[in-house]
Order: sequence, then C-alpha cells, then structure tokens
Amino acid sequence: MKKSHGPSFRRELKPLMVCGTCRGATVVSGVFHQLDCAACNASGWLCAETGLALPVEVLVQQLSLKLRNVTAELSRARQSIGGAHEQYEQNNRRGAGGSNFTGD
Ligand SMILES: [Zn+2]
Repeated sequence: MKKSHGPSFRRELKPLMVCGTCRGATVVSGVFHQLDCAACNASGWLCAETGLALPVEVLVQQLSLKLRNVTAELSRARQSIGGAHEQYEQNNRRGAGGSNFTGD
C-alpha cells in the first residue's frame, strides 16, 4: 500500500480518540497546578490511527469538522423529535374534527 507524503489538502474527517493521558480533560495535574497535556497538544484528542497528537492546524480543522457533524446530528435528532410530536398533535386534531362531522 502506497502512503502519500506531506499534508493532505482535502478536508476529510480523521478518526479521533480521547487522549489516554489526560482522559480528554486537556490538562494533567502537576505538582502545584494543572498543566497543559503534552500528549495531545492540550486538545484532549489524539489521532486514532497513529495514537499521536495531531498538529494544531490539522487539529483545529478536525475538531471543527467533528463539531459540525455533531451539531448537524443534534439538530437532526431535535427535528425528528419535534416532527414526531407535531405529527401526533395533527393526528389528534384531525381525529377530533372528523368525528364531529355530521354532514348536514
Ligand atoms: Zn491529553
């Protein structure tokens, strides 16, 4: 399998995993205060393929894509919940109206 060298110019979502060193907290406890986690560039995430921190410029892009996906997923979930609720209310109204029809 041939591996391409250099940065990819395509915006594609890489699999990320939670950093095991800080457990996604982005900081580790030092002697006196909390320190930025060096294992993950204080992002809380590592590349799931290499297990290493992504360069900050790649990381920003990846987190942005991830956030967009999560936000879109969340709004889809909200819509489907809202949609089902709306449909239920419409059916109720239609049922009540239909039974009142006398045909005069
Ligand atoms: Zn970390």
